[in-house]
Amino acid sequence: MSLISIIVPCYNEEAVLPLFYEEIQKVMEQMRTEHSHLTFELLFIDDGSKDKTLALLREMALKDQRVRYISFSRNFGKEAGMFAGLENAKGDYVVVMDADLQHPPAFLPQMYNYVKDGEYDCATTRRVSRKGESKIRSAFARTFYKIMNKISQTEIVDGAQDFRFMTRQMVDSILSMREYNRFSKGIFSWVGFKVRYIEYENVERAAGTTAWSFWGLFRYSLEGIFAFSTAPLALASLLGVISCLVAFIMCVVIIIKTLAFGEPVAGFPTIMCGMFFLGGLQLFCTGILGQYLSKTYLECKHRPVYLMRENEEIYRSRQNS
Ligand code: UDP
Ligand code: MG
Repeated sequence: MSLISIIVPCYNEEAVLPLFYEEIQKVMEQMRTEHSHLTFELLFIDDGSKDKTLALLREMALKDQRVRYISFSRNFGKEAGMFAGLENAKGDYVVVMDADLQHPPAFLPQMYNYVKDGEYDCATTRRVSRKGESKIRSAFARTFYKIMNKISQTEIVDGAQDFRFMTRQMVDSILSMREYNRFSKGIFSWVGFKVRYIEYENVERAAGTTAWSFWGLFRYSLEGIFAFSTAPLALASLLGVISCLVAFIMCVVIIIKTLAFGEPVAGFPTIMCGMFFLGGLQLFCTGILGQYLSKTYLECKHRPVYLMRENEEIYRSRQNS
């Protein structure tokens, strides 16, 4: 028997929940007929919804033994929802997907096929178009991925989504990252493992409206940069070095000028040189502080030093099963 947990973060999703439930049931039935050893649990996370989402979940849980839910005391955001889901899921395989059918349940059988033999640890979708999204939003998104991939060692794939079919091993690895400020796109990528991408065209929301405003997304992208890059902290060092260099050149110029032509304001050259040089030095030292701060920051996150994917024990037990 293999249990598949399906985690669905929901924030004000009364309009799509019934549709989602209907769709996912069809897919679960289909998968059970193909693979009789599969069982399912649906784990909904009600992220402090203000509409009838919780009432719908209660009703579903009463009728259907496979339905579980966790209701938050207030809105904590989708990241917190996904974390709660991963932490509480009991499955051998874990799926994370949106409630709005933008992550089509029809992909699940294919995803399971990729993951079940142990060749891949994760199957996920990558949208190749941003159809149905505003031009400005797409442009900003593309710029974000460009900058992010320049300044961060963790690769953030453009178009990758939080629609994931993962093995228990990968889920445990994700849970071993205990950081509070969670940026899932980075975390999924940071843990590594063998990931299979399935490309597809963007699908629009089945009903309801998106909870993400432009500014919300903008803040979220900054979150991503600060969580997975310390480049901004190194900026002071760079500015300091440039400023010191400029000071040095100015000193030389001022000294030569004073020697050749004299200086009507006594003491001016000395003050100018001192100002530029000290300013640069200060920035440079702030940069050094920044370097130590960035190391401390990374230590605080208590990220694992390494993650194992396989050893002889795992390999042998897989061969035997
Ligand atoms: N969501 C959530 N908490 C929030 C915002 C969103 O749990 O604070 C859920 C939402 O119910 C949906 C998923 O996250 O299942 C994606 O949200 P949405 O469709 O609004 O985002 P988009 O698809 O536009 O990125
Ligand atoms: Mg959506």
